[in-house]
Amino acid sequence: MDLHSGLPFWVIKNEFFNLYNPLRKNYKVDVAIIGSGITGSLVAHELCEAGIECAIFDKRTIGTGSSAASTAQLQYEIDVPLSELVKKVPEKIAIDAYFNCLQSITDIENVFKKTQVDADFVRVPTVLLASDKKGVELLDREYEIRTEVGLPVNYLDAKQLKEYQNIDGIAALQNDTSAMMDAYKGAIGLLQYHQKKHDLKLFTHTKIEQIQESKNGCELTTEHRHKISCKHVIVASGFEAGQFLPKKVMDLLSTYAIISQPMDEKKIWPHKSLIWETAEPYLYMRTTTDNRLIVGGEDEEFYNPEKRDELLRDKIKILERKFKNLYPDIDFITEMAWCGTFSATADGLPYMGPYKKGDRKLFALGYGGNGITFSMIAAQVLTTIILGKKDERLTTFGFDRPSK
Ligand SMILES: Cc1cc2nc3c(=O)[nH]c(=O)nc-3n(C[C@H](O)[C@H](O)[C@H](O)COP(=O)(O)OP(=O)(O)OC[C@H]3O[C@@H](n4cnc5c(N)ncnc54)[C@H](O)[C@@H]3O)c2cc1C
Repeated sequence: MDLHSGLPFWVIKNEFFNLYNPLRKNYKVDVAIIGSGITGSLVAHELCEAGIECAIFDKRTIGTGSSAASTAQLQYEIDVPLSELVKKVPEKIAIDAYFNCLQSITDIENVFKKTQVDADFVRVPTVLLASDKKGVELLDREYEIRTEVGLPVNYLDAKQLKEYQNIDGIAALQNDTSAMMDAYKGAIGLLQYHQKKHDLKLFTHTKIEQIQESKNGCELTTEHRHKISCKHVIVASGFEAGQFLPKKVMDLLSTYAIISQPMDEKKIWPHKSLIWETAEPYLYMRTTTDNRLIVGGEDEEFYNPEKRDELLRDKIKILERKFKNLYPDIDFITEMAWCGTFSATADGLPYMGPYKKGDRKLFALGYGGNGITFSMIAAQVLTTIILGKKDERLTTFGFDRPSK
């Protein structure tokens, strides 16, 4: 699958993890992880911390899947507003999902603090703008339900929005719990950390074609017919996980992002907030540690890399225009643009754990706009399962979660 076009900004900015280590013989390991993106690296980290022997297998160069294209905003707010999510899944699940995402941001922060891996993790506020009158109604419903359940949220009316964020808008929701990072840098940093500690083996350019499960373990077959035997396999292969799933669980989308040239820090919008809006598809914006601005959105509901790439020029113009409407005084000079594939599930929640109770094939599928916070949760949940313990979070994020 073609996950993104060209080389996204993060791969150019950071060092390339120049490892070429394809599997050349049969191999045995306790846990085999398929995928070396932010999900695979967080999973590997949690397993290593728990003292579980594991190895990563990736068909590409390390970290160059979707994680290299990610704009990596970390928010407790998922793509489906809480007031909508409670209509799709039981209320307890919806609320748990939101609180788990909130906790996940701190857990990600702690992983990078503890390992001292520099992932450009920075705490910033989030501002969710009402795009129109319908958006104001949505903000009202969201504010009510979020305050009722105890999620951190503030309401900004037009005057307060102007004062806080220097935006001429109708209203917004604000909170101080978000963060932004560089998912590619974080992923390769964690993998290098564990490589140095000699508790993780990394195999690149090794495509897993088949997973055969038995009562006591799994056997993986690579493209070149090598066999990997393991007690558990973790599928952290992102949007390409469909090949290992018995049923389609998500729809693929195409999304676009532009990044500006670095600018004088004083010219950046206040608080370096993550900014997004209620319209669908939504526009979103963040800053980087080298004082660039990223604007993304313009999602299209299709997966067709050629069509996706053909639209890039038009999408750049649209994103630039939308930015200008919000911040006419900030001179956004586009340095690079890219488009990527991502996916959405029917309820906006990810899938993690076994497809069927007792399976030794476990999934870590952080689908949706909050993929990275979901990856952290999946890493913890799957480690707990492998340690033979129960994790309540499977009720919220497992394949058999109830819907309404
Ligand atoms: C433009 C864009 C913006 C985004 N913005 C955000 C955001 O703001 N916040 C957020 O939380 N999320 C965001 N996301 C989503 C987030 O980036 C993804 O959820 C996350 O990067 C997925 O990480 P992953 O490790 O699961 O997948 P990937 O990074 O794609 O890694 C999966 C790896 O598995 C390997 N693989 C696949 N199949 C096989 C196989 N058969 N054998 C061996 N290896 C295999 C691939 O080569 C790949 O390296 C965004 C995504 C995009 C594209």
